[in-house]
Amino acid sequence: MSDFSCGRAAKLLAEIHHEHKLSKKSLRHVKGLLQSIFTHAKRNDVLFGENPIKDAGYPRAAKAANKSHAYTVQEISTMLHTLTGTAKTAVALMYLAALRPGEARGLRWPDYDEDKRILNVQRSIWRKHESGPKTEGSVAPVPVAEALRVILAETQRTSQYILATPSGGPVDLHNLARRVIVPSLTRCKTCHETEAEHAKADHEFERDISLPKWRGFYACRRRIATALADLDSAIAAKSVLRHSNVATTTAHYVKSVDASAIRAMDKVSALFEPHTGRPI
Ligand SMILES: [Zn+2]
Repeated sequence: MSDFSCGRAAKLLAEIHHEHKLSKKSLRHVKGLLQSIFTHAKRNDVLFGENPIKDAGYPRAAKAANKSHAYTVQEISTMLHTLTGTAKTAVALMYLAALRPGEARGLRWPDYDEDKRILNVQRSIWRKHESGPKTEGSVAPVPVAEALRVILAETQRTSQYILATPSGGPVDLHNLARRVIVPSLTRCKTCHETEAEHAKADHEFERDISLPKWRGFYACRRRIATALADLDSAIAAKSVLRHSNVATTTAHYVKSVDASAIRAMDKVSALFEPHTGRPI
């Protein structure tokens, strides 16, 4: 640890940026974490002299974070109507249950309590790494809206995972978006065929712009926060999104928040006709 130079720290940040394409803001968090590790080392006499992280610069290529996009209710509705199978369930879980992509991948059927209308979010999968809750108490229950209940009832239980590949493993969301979602949302304005099936048509392919442009799974979670806050309350939104400031409140408070979260989810859910996902 005492050999770790400022130059090496800068190189490490550049490597992290190169591999994970992090924004400047995320790199700041990484640097902050590294700096506190070395501060801890100094305080415990493991390291003497300057904290090598302090003056390490950021790679020039790191950009400010992209302006985040959130789908409109109409766009989500069109997506749920257009998509089928795992792709539809994935969008529904990340919009109607506001799950993070890794949490949706980690979800297993036993985590779904149909009677209580709850999803117990207790693990997350990043690439091939699965992480579980640190304590029993960190298992977060998420209310299941009526529209999501209907979609889950239609989802085939072919694996322990709710979002599963044909071989039964957790789905790769990047592949799902690239191979299924984007092609399904890219259709001809005239004949509604997908681009791949369009080759034999007697006219030019022209993209139907009434279908939403895919902007990633996080945009689903972002949108539900706004919809919940608009239709019900900010507290309901915080509760559904499982933000820490609500998680740390007293049990009684959390109970009343949970009731408001279910009520808010049902208001959002009521915007959708359960079977087709069309707005009413
Ligand atoms: Zn066509």
